[in-house]
Amino acid sequence: MSQLEMVSHQPQQSPYFMGFSAETLYEKCLSLAKNLWWSWQPEVINLFRDLDPIRWRQLDHNPIALLSEFTPERLELRAAELVLYSRINQAYRRLKEYLAEIPPWGKTHAGVLGSKPVAYFSLEFGVHESVPIYSGGLGVLSGDHIKSASGLGVPLVAIGLFYDQGYFKQQLDLNGWQHEEYINTKVENLPMEPALGLDGQPLTVQINTRSGRLLAKVWLMRVGRTRLYLLDSDVPGNQPEDRELTSRLYGGDLRTRIRQELVAGVGGIRALRAMGITPGVYHLNEGHSAFAILDAIRERMKDDGMTFDAALRDVAQHTVFTTHTPVPAGHDRFDKNLMEEHHGPLREELGISLDQLMGLGRVEPQNDHEPFCMTVLGLKLSRRANAVSNLHGHVTRRMWAHLWPWRVEEEIPIGHITNGVHIQSWLALQMQQLYDRYFPAGWMNRMGEPEVWQTIYGIDPGELWETHYAMKNLLLAFVRRRVSRQCRRRGESDEAVEAARSILDPNVLTIGFARRFATYKRATLILTDLDWLASIINDPQRPMQMIFAGKAHPADEPGKQLIQRLANLRHDPRFAGRIAFVEDYDINVCRHLIQGVDVWLNTPRRPQEASGTSGQKAVLNGVLNLSILDGWWAEAYDGSNGFAISKGTTHVDDRMTDARDFADLQRVLTEEVIPTYYDHDIDGLPRHWIKRMMNSISSLAWRFSADRMVADYVHKTYLYAAGGVSCEMNAR
Ligand SMILES: *Cc1c(COP(=O)(O)O)cnc(C)c1O
Repeated sequence: MSQLEMVSHQPQQSPYFMGFSAETLYEKCLSLAKNLWWSWQPEVINLFRDLDPIRWRQLDHNPIALLSEFTPERLELRAAELVLYSRINQAYRRLKEYLAEIPPWGKTHAGVLGSKPVAYFSLEFGVHESVPIYSGGLGVLSGDHIKSASGLGVPLVAIGLFYDQGYFKQQLDLNGWQHEEYINTKVENLPMEPALGLDGQPLTVQINTRSGRLLAKVWLMRVGRTRLYLLDSDVPGNQPEDRELTSRLYGGDLRTRIRQELVAGVGGIRALRAMGITPGVYHLNEGHSAFAILDAIRERMKDDGMTFDAALRDVAQHTVFTTHTPVPAGHDRFDKNLMEEHHGPLREELGISLDQLMGLGRVEPQNDHEPFCMTVLGLKLSRRANAVSNLHGHVTRRMWAHLWPWRVEEEIPIGHITNGVHIQSWLALQMQQLYDRYFPAGWMNRMGEPEVWQTIYGIDPGELWETHYAMKNLLLAFVRRRVSRQCRRRGESDEAVEAARSILDPNVLTIGFARRFATYKRATLILTDLDWLASIINDPQRPMQMIFAGKAHPADEPGKQLIQRLANLRHDPRFAGRIAFVEDYDINVCRHLIQGVDVWLNTPRRPQEASGTSGQKAVLNGVLNLSILDGWWAEAYDGSNGFAISKGTTHVDDRMTDARDFADLQRVLTEEVIPTYYDHDIDGLPRHWIKRMMNSISSLAWRFSADRMVADYVHKTYLYAAGGVSCEMNAR
C-alpha cells in the first residue's frame, strides 16, 4: 500500500520521472497482463491494443504474448509516442486498489464464508479468448461466475484443468467440411504461475489407481480477486500417455474422461488441502467434477475419525450441485471396471465395497447393469441441487424423479437458479459510454437494480439507433475480414477473396445465429424451405441477411453435415453475399456477433436448451432475441421485449415439432420482425423497433446478469451449505 501511495503522490509531469518508481512501465504492464481483470476493463484493453493494433489482433488479444515482443526500452519509446504513461499508471493503480478492497456487497452478504471460501469446480473456464481452456457455453458460464464473484467480493476459489491444446480450432475446407486443428498453447504466454504448497514449493498432487499413480501439477491464474487453480498432468513422473491426459478438452475415450475427472475432482480437493485452503462450500458446476465429494469424505473420515456415513452426511451438507444437461444421454457414465481401476484405492480408504461405491452413482443401487452416473452422484451427495432455468428445473425434476420415488414431482429437491452473464465482459464499449451519459452515476456498481435500467427510456432514440448502427458496421467489417481471410486460406481465387470484402449491407436486417452444432439446436431450421428463405432474403424493399458461426464436436458427423450445408449456401447465387459463415466460433467471435447483429436467433427443440446465455449477452447491446420459448427465454419473454417462436408446446414426434416451429418462425419473421424493422418514421428511425430494444434492455439486463446469478447462489445455496444461515430453495 505504501508503495502505491508513493506512486500516486508523484507529480505526473515528466515521463522520465516514472523511471525512478519501484516498478518500471514494463513491469506495470506485465502486472496488468497477468491478472485477467484486464479482460473486462475497456480502458486496459484499449491500452494494450494501442501498443500495436495489428499484432494485438494477430496474437488473439493476448497481452503477455504482445509484451514479449517488446523490450522495456521499446515499450518506453512506444508509450512516449502515444502518451500512454498516465493511462498505464492509472490502470495499474486501479488494479491495485481493486485487489486491496473487499466490496461492500461481499462484506454484507457473504461475510460468513470468510476464511472458508466456496470451492467452485468446473471442467472448463471461458474467461477470455486468449486462454483457450473452454469449449462453449458451460465454460463461459464458469468464467462469468468467477468474474462476478470477484466483483461482488464473494470468497471463492475455482478449480479446473489446464489443457495445453485446449479445444480445437475450426477450419472449413473448399467443400465446407469441418477440420479440427489442435495448437499447443505456449504456457509462458498465459497468465499463470505455479501454485505453491504450504511449504512454499510448487505443488504436485498424487492419486493412486489400480493401474499406477497419477500426478498433476497445479497452476494459479488470477481472475480479479478470484484465484483459479488448474491441474495439469504433464509432469515428469507420469507415464507418457498420462502426460497427455489433460492436453485436450473433450478429447479421447471414456477412460481418458474418467481420468480427467479424477484429476479435476480428487486432485482438486488434494490441491486445496496442500495449499491450506479449507472450503466451506463445494460447488460442483456440472457432474464432471463430482468425484471431489468422494475425496472430501475421505478427508473428513481421516481428520475427524468419522464413519463413512457420518462423513458423507457432513460433506453433503456443504455441497452444492448444479446440473446443466436436460437429455439423459448427455451425462457421463462409467462402468464397474473403469470405476474400480480408478477408485479402488480410494474406495478402500473409504471402507466401502465396490457395490456400495457403484450404488452412489446409480438410480437403483442394487441394479448391477446400471453404470455409474456422475449426475446421480452429484444429486445424491449434495444437499442443494439446482437446474439453470425455471423450465430446466421442471425438466430436471421429472428426469430424476425416480431417485425419490416416494415424492411427487414438485417435492423433488432440485431447485433452479437461472444463468446470467457478466455484464462488463459482454457490453460493447460504445453502449457502455451511452449508458454512462444517461444512467445514474455509479450505475456499474448497481447493475442488479431494475431501477437503474429503467433509465434506458430516457435515452434519445436516435442516439441509441446510431450507436447500434456503429456497432453493426464494426461487426460487418469483422465478418468481411474473417471471411476473406478464410477464402484466401482455402486457396480460392483473387476475385472470391475480393468479393468477400464487400459482402453484407449495414442497412439490411441482420440475423445472427451461432452455437454448437448439436442436432437439437436445429441450426438449419430456418433452411427448411430454401425458396421461401431466398424470397425473403432478396425482397427488394425489405431484404434480410444472416451470419452464422459454430463448431461441431469432432466426432459429430451429423453436426458437421449441418455446417457443410450452411457453408455451401454461399455458392448459391440467391444467397451469395447475404449469408456468411464465420469459422472458429469463440468468445471473440461471439462478442462481435452479439454486439452487432439486429436479431439473435435461437431455435432449439424445446425443452432441450437448459438455459442458453448468448441471448442474454445480446440483450445488453440492444440486440433483439428471436427464439423458441426454451431455456432462459421461456421465463424472459413478456410479449414486447423481443420475439417468440411457437407457444412453448411440443409434440411427441420431433418431425411434427420441427414442422410446426418452422411454420411459426416464418410467421414471426414475415409478420412481426421484418415489418417492425423496416417501419421507419419521418426521421428515418424504426421507432417501434427501438422501443422494443429499450423494453428488452430494461426488463432483462439486470435479471439475467451473472451478478444476480451469483447473488442467488449466495443466498439460496452457499450460506446454507456453509452452515451459517438456513435458507430455502423452493423447487417451485
Ligand atoms: C456465450 C457463449 C456460448 C453460450 O451460448 P448459448 O446461448 O448457450 O449457445 C457458447 N460459446 C461461446 C463462445 C460463448 O461466448
